[in-house]
Amino acid sequence: MSAQPHIVLSWLVRRTRLPLLHRRCPDCRSASATTGPGRFRVNANGKLLDVWLLVRCVGCDRTSKLTVHERVPVARLDPAALDGYHANDPALVAAVLLDPRHRAALDWRGAWRLDTPAAPLAGDWPVQVEVEFADPVPVRPDRLIAHGLGISRNDVPARVKCDVSLRRPATAGFRFVVLSPSAPPAAA
Ligand SMILES: [Zn+2]
Repeated sequence: MSAQPHIVLSWLVRRTRLPLLHRRCPDCRSASATTGPGRFRVNANGKLLDVWLLVRCVGCDRTSKLTVHERVPVARLDPAALDGYHANDPALVAAVLLDPRHRAALDWRGAWRLDTPAAPLAGDWPVQVEVEFADPVPVRPDRLIAHGLGISRNDVPARVKCDVSLRRPATAGFRFVVLSPSAPPAAA
């Protein structure tokens, strides 16, 4: 590349609340569920524990469960985590819900935001942008970039050189370079 970007901006993707879950309710047919403020249920069976995160249908409040631990020996559980389950620790609720091992189908709409520096993009092209994720929000880079730059998604491929696929949802950091807008038709 001939022109090295000399301006580097940081963008941050972060959640504003917990995402909902895509979950079909057998009673009311709603397709959406929530952990609400977050409640665990811990069930002891001899020396074995079951731990669930409770999930409520947004339509009718029907409760269902997301399995966190199934018949795990008490001694194998981190005591701090066990305390957290009993106390419905909000950080633990978020960690469980967002843990990909639990395969919760998450609905991130309206649950995240993009923080960009206040400085407007003007003048000194090209500009490099480093996108970081404080939470694993799956978002298509072209949508994120269009939103962050205030341009149309169709204009993104022509304006941006990106080190990841523009259309495949990213949940980890990536970077891209914004090129100068093509010169408008010369004014007479
Ligand atoms: Zn329901």
